[in-house]
Amino acid sequence: MSSAGQSPGRLTVLSGPSGVGKGTVIEAVRRKYPDIWVSVSVTTRSARAGEIPGQTYHFIDGLDFDDLIARGELLEWADYTGRRYGTPRVPVEQMLASGRPALLEIDLDGARQIRHELRKTQLVFLAPPSWDELVRRLTGRGSDSAEQVSARLAKAREEMDAAPEFDVVLVNDDVDRVAKALAKLIR
Ligand code: 5GP
Repeated sequence: MSSAGQSPGRLTVLSGPSGVGKGTVIEAVRRKYPDIWVSVSVTTRSARAGEIPGQTYHFIDGLDFDDLIARGELLEWADYTGRRYGTPRVPVEQMLASGRPALLEIDLDGARQIRHELRKTQLVFLAPPSWDELVRRLTGRGSDSAEQVSARLAKAREEMDAAPEFDVVLVNDDVDRVAKALAKLIR
């Protein structure tokens, strides 16, 4: 449970259950700490209201996703409740080579793949203040179908159980506080 020994250009992964507020924390990091580079993933899911293509995600179809896998262009990828998500390899490698701190926001499967591939990666788990709060956030979002919500809740339980696999656990009780703590860990 330590970030000791981190050097500039090291990779940090932020993971945690759906609904915990990873997106909001990442948004705050981007806004307040522009020296930290945040990877933009590719996904086969469609954009939610307010999401900006190329900024929130690169929204692509399944065939293009297959292509990226076949060409080895994804550093990691995972199927998350029936949709696929992946991290484009080249931008991450470029950032690490240039010495700039890089941050990935990915699911548990992805975090495990990265831990296996790049052992020096710092793994940070974002936890909700409580399970009830997570359920409230997931069911109150309104943008997902009932089926999607229950799939995400099932996945969230599995993800919560994996918290001990991470180097650091941050509780998302205050977005600005968490963004600041995360920036400190990354730098
Ligand atoms: P959402 O649909 O809520 O934006 O994301 C669903 C899940 O996919 C979240 O847990 C998010 O962290 C994860 N995710 C986003 N991008 C990636 C990625 O590039 N790779 C992996 N493995 N998971 C991702």
